[in-house]
Amino acid sequence: MAQPTSPVTPSLVFVPNLRTDRGMGHLKRCLGAARSAGSSSVVYLAAEFAFVGKFPLFSRSVVQTLADQAGVTLWDHWPPGLSVPTVVVDLQATTEAAFRFLRDRCVRLVGWDEGGRVRGRFPFLVDSLPHDTQPLPNVRLPELLGLGVPPRAPLFQRPVQRVLAAFGGADSRGLTLKFLTFVKSLQGQGRWPYSLTVVRGPLSKVLLPPDTEVLEAPSNLAGLLGGYDLTVTSWGLTALESLAAGTPVVLLNPTSYHEKLARAAGLPTFGVGRPRVQAFWSGVEEAPEAARVAFGKLLRPPQDPGAYFAAFHGSDGFCPVCRTSGHPVFARTVHKSYHRCEECGMEYLSVHQLPEKQYSEAYFFEDYQKQYGKTYLQDFPHIQGLGRERLAFLDKTFGAQEGRSVLDVGCAYGPFLAAVALAGHRPYGLDVADAAVDHVKTALGFPAVRASFLDFRWQEAFPGHSQPDVLTLWYVIEHFPNLDALLRQANSVLSVGGIFAFSTPNGRGITRRFAPEKFWRESPDDHFSIWNPRNSRSVLGRFGFEVAAYRVTGHHPERFPGLKNPRGMFFALIRVLDRWLGWGDTFEVYARKTKELP
Ligand SMILES: [Zn+2]
Repeated sequence: MAQPTSPVTPSLVFVPNLRTDRGMGHLKRCLGAARSAGSSSVVYLAAEFAFVGKFPLFSRSVVQTLADQAGVTLWDHWPPGLSVPTVVVDLQATTEAAFRFLRDRCVRLVGWDEGGRVRGRFPFLVDSLPHDTQPLPNVRLPELLGLGVPPRAPLFQRPVQRVLAAFGGADSRGLTLKFLTFVKSLQGQGRWPYSLTVVRGPLSKVLLPPDTEVLEAPSNLAGLLGGYDLTVTSWGLTALESLAAGTPVVLLNPTSYHEKLARAAGLPTFGVGRPRVQAFWSGVEEAPEAARVAFGKLLRPPQDPGAYFAAFHGSDGFCPVCRTSGHPVFARTVHKSYHRCEECGMEYLSVHQLPEKQYSEAYFFEDYQKQYGKTYLQDFPHIQGLGRERLAFLDKTFGAQEGRSVLDVGCAYGPFLAAVALAGHRPYGLDVADAAVDHVKTALGFPAVRASFLDFRWQEAFPGHSQPDVLTLWYVIEHFPNLDALLRQANSVLSVGGIFAFSTPNGRGITRRFAPEKFWRESPDDHFSIWNPRNSRSVLGRFGFEVAAYRVTGHHPERFPGLKNPRGMFFALIRVLDRWLGWGDTFEVYARKTKELP
């Protein structure tokens, strides 16, 4: 990437919608967020055809005036070649072309209330508007709407005298007029005892009867809602603003989609596209209690979106193999998104808003104990036993050979190295933890080096020793966010003919197959790549390795959902299938280096 053209590279870029038909809300909240995020943020005016097509846009001078008021820097053009840390997209429905443009110009791409077809490809999705868009977001933060929510729920109990009707900036379904007709007919029957004020949005083309009391495109509708006793609106932001202002709502919705969401929120509704009399009166009756309940359920004290996005952190959304981004996300949790690379098939993780984790002595003495109920050293004989099995399988696959030199990356306290020595081979250890390396050198007496594998050079670490015959990584490979670098390094450490073996969780194992949600929820937040026998063959092929054998391990038939009796016939069948079909939750790959990389 070339150097930025501006003196200071922003760390945060907001990309708001500029199309008039989508309303000014996006632009205003992006300017507000950029203002509070501070000088390291800018707002990009994405007016190119790829972003907005031929739709009319807000005028440049209007936007400039708003930006000047907020003290925010605008970009009319993206500086050529510039990549920024975080881009927050608030386009409502991003086009494919716009997504590709932004994806290639940042490390972290965040969709804020994104509802378009590319929604599922954003590495991180935060929804704050009360929509129920699929697929589900990583987090819902209605706090970011900045509603002025009072610390205590209002009472909502007061006689209805003044009614306000507001159906959005454009009211494309003509609900304002339909509601006015409805009220007229009630008035004719002497059944409308209230005063009525109607809001006409800035983009509404509706012609209202001359005797209507109208609020013309008020700039601060939220601040006016508290002056009324009942708000008639559709499901959306105004409904929530009304609750925050202490005014109950009854809803007339434009679509059955809005109707479904309104009902889920427990708010009274009186029709879809057409008002219904009975439902209106029962809605008016239920409105105060429904408002009280919905207030507690839907509203949160405001959180400053500028502060939230300025502090946003996480990994990039790049495939660890191809180093490209924007691949579809198939599972999300608050902190994690699982992508499937469209180029290489690798399944991988991007993490967001997590504290950074360090592997240290604490891992072995505390975390390990927490996870397995015993210390790593207590587990030593068991892991050494696994090592014996692995070496036996390696001999079976590649032919027995005396005195192989074996480099174990992530050797920890050396149980596998001990098995290597016992089998008559020559062990070499590498780990990032000092205490582990010390233990291997002094207690076990094997050569070992404290290093990160990516920075490691065999000749510097073990001068005078010939290149290793075997390179092993037991439950290590999934911890590397950059597999491209790792696999290149693996290739360079070995000579052609050298053996590369590793173990890792099985992304096609029994848990993933039968309880995928559990699998993705429980997969650790530092397992960046999810391997399976199929993708390992093609990925290793790209880095000069040919897979010679797999060994599916981690057979846990008791994990089969609904399987209670571990001695039944069904259990026995599952155990056979498990072994036969490779459903174990972990597996090992044994590969041979076939060529040098360019
Ligand atoms: Zn890939």
